[in-house]
Amino acid sequence: MAMIVFVIFWIICGAVAATIASSKGGSALIGFIVGVLLGPLGIIIAFFIGNEKAAAEAQIQSGDRKKCPRCAELVQPDALVCKHCGHEFDTKATPIG
Ligand SMILES: [Zn+2]
Repeated sequence: MAMIVFVIFWIICGAVAATIASSKGGSALIGFIVGVLLGPLGIIIAFFIGNEKAAAEAQIQSGDRKKCPRCAELVQPDALVCKHCGHEFDTKATPIG
């Protein structure tokens, strides 16, 4: 009987982690897997799964970073070339010389 309680507890951890990850803008599936595998620790990790993406979105919204259209990595707003993939941004808006 104790085993069933243990299993249910772990599944609930997965569900809670999935809900947290999803509400933070992350993947509910990843949150669930982490929650089931790690239990209460997975719930804590779920906060960081979502926060990472939410933080990136916040940086784009506030203009601290822009998203590279080619590799989807965040780069400096003043960057002319993506440091991740070498994509050259449209520089027409920023006259040089
Ligand atoms: Zn790039």
